[in-house]
Amino acid sequence: MHTALALHTTTAAWSLQDALTALHDLARAEAAQIGAERAAAADPMRSPVWGGTRAGGTHADPTGGAVSTLTRPARRNRYADRVQRTTETLDWLADLTAGPGTGHPLARIRRAIPQLDAHDLDELHHWLTEHDDRCRQLLGRSQAVEPIPGDCPGCDVRALMVWQAGPREAWTVVCSACQGIWPATAAVQPIAA
Ligand SMILES: [Zn+2]
Repeated sequence: MHTALALHTTTAAWSLQDALTALHDLARAEAAQIGAERAAAADPMRSPVWGGTRAGGTHADPTGGAVSTLTRPARRNRYADRVQRTTETLDWLADLTAGPGTGHPLARIRRAIPQLDAHDLDELHHWLTEHDDRCRQLLGRSQAVEPIPGDCPGCDVRALMVWQAGPREAWTVVCSACQGIWPATAAVQPIAA
């Protein structure tokens, strides 16, 4: 039986999808910001360097400055870099676990999880968690995990957490003491009551 590991892996896949979606938004905003900076630098009238009232001296010819700014490579978009690297890894993982296919790699991975053996699930869980951590480091946001009251039905320790990863029906309750895991739909209500 690998159901607990499969559920942990599915939760990790949803958590990574949430992080990746948030990073996508940041990458888009950053790309717009970089574009605006370059447009401002290329336009002498809008440039902070050339837009002043100062005339003559070494700043007499704005063209040279604008051209050198344009030929400089754009500032790195670290959010887009992270999205790209993680997506490449996910495409590779989806091909490995689900075989060749189309669609979002995390959706393909989630569909493949029930067919994977314990070893492959363990590997997959490791990769997903590592990339989730990297994305969240950049986001400055940890996993959406909330403690809930009640004792763990597995080990009786009061260490239950709700993982709010993905859509609500995919949330899970995880015991941080014994790593027991249950679908939140089934577990949260009776335990929290
Ligand atoms: Zn427990």
